[in-house]
Amino acid sequence: MRFLCGIVVCFFSLSLCAQKVSVGLFLDIPVKAATFAVQSGSYAIIVDDTLLVAAIDRGASMQLSHNSSGLRLRISGDNMGVFSSVKAVGMGDEGVFSLTCTNPMSPSHSYAQHAFIRSADDGSGLLIVNQLDEDFYLSGVVEAETGCSARPEFFKTQAILSRTYLYAHFNRHAKNGFNLCDGVHCQAYKGLLTRCRRIRTAVDETEGTIVIDTKKRPITPSFHANCGGQTSHSENVWREKLPYLRSVKDDYCKQQPGARWQKRIALSEWRDYMSRNGIRVKSAKQLELAQPSRKKYYEVGGKKVELTKIRQRFGLRSTFFDVRVAGNEVVLTGKGYGHGVGMCQEGAIQMAERGLKCEDILQRYYKNTGIVSFNQARSTLAMQQDSMLFLFNPWRNETPDTTMFIDSTISTVSADSIGQQALIQDVH
Ligand SMILES: [Zn+2]
Ligand SMILES: [Zn+2]
Repeated sequence: MRFLCGIVVCFFSLSLCAQKVSVGLFLDIPVKAATFAVQSGSYAIIVDDTLLVAAIDRGASMQLSHNSSGLRLRISGDNMGVFSSVKAVGMGDEGVFSLTCTNPMSPSHSYAQHAFIRSADDGSGLLIVNQLDEDFYLSGVVEAETGCSARPEFFKTQAILSRTYLYAHFNRHAKNGFNLCDGVHCQAYKGLLTRCRRIRTAVDETEGTIVIDTKKRPITPSFHANCGGQTSHSENVWREKLPYLRSVKDDYCKQQPGARWQKRIALSEWRDYMSRNGIRVKSAKQLELAQPSRKKYYEVGGKKVELTKIRQRFGLRSTFFDVRVAGNEVVLTGKGYGHGVGMCQEGAIQMAERGLKCEDILQRYYKNTGIVSFNQARSTLAMQQDSMLFLFNPWRNETPDTTMFIDSTISTVSADSIGQQALIQDVH
């Protein structure tokens, strides 16, 4: 029956041959029950690899709940039984459905194409996987991160960065039975959202394009909301020193919403914290700090504390701040929003507003990198085991796209693996 379904899907649409991405949803909550509702198209319902219902249409819904014996399925209220797995396959490789966790309750989102549901490996609840075309996935990721109001060149930049991450970590959750999760562990994904046309166009126009470093490895595409006028070296925030994540000056973001912040903290609290970290002062004035350009440490009298540690402890928007003592308080006057590594989104948005191209934006924030077509360059790319290079897909082996730019210094192929980067986004 699975075979029959495959024929039906292929028959109606050649777009089946587009690269598919399987995204694990709601991994951070043990989903005990969920409702799947058809919003458009028709869905075949397959249980334990047997066709149960040939088509359910708009308005129909499935209620799924997890118990010790498996997965209980109701369709529009009728009890269909308990199964190991349920697949909702969009006919013609199309269809849109909404998904709502009903235990625990969560907001409903809309998703394209297919849903596969089974018990989670740890038995805690349902594992729900959305399988969809790469371009739908990337459009959703970009909109979740940026909204829909910026210029096309900015969206092209974000699309290339999201694709770079996807290709480099394509099999990150292979052991869980899908490619990437929908949380910030991988890339935040909340389904189709508004289906922003500008973003979908940007994804199409950059098809297959990724950013690589001088060793022909996909870069770690870090970005943040606002750098405050200067981005950070990667090693000032994380342990790893990456040659393309270098500190650069940025005038484009200085008048934007995330450029400035201020926070007041009780002097006693600040002083106690510093004392516990080895900084003991006779005069409160010694606690003052000027940071005209980014530093790694808050340093007083030869003793120092990492600014990232202070940021985390006090919930600060950035590590780029001055400290002034005013009465019983310290006043922190800060610049920027986020970790400061890689692309500054508000700077990039302004560059796009002023007519700069996505290549200009990427090369400003990621030094000594190349912007290449994955299809054209993959035979020479150095990628780690969980990357897409190891998932050869004959349908993508078409006429190579035009290479937009290859840095002339890129000549060495390295088998080095790139480090796992759990935290690439730090915006909110
Ligand atoms: Zn993940
Ligand atoms: Zn900036």
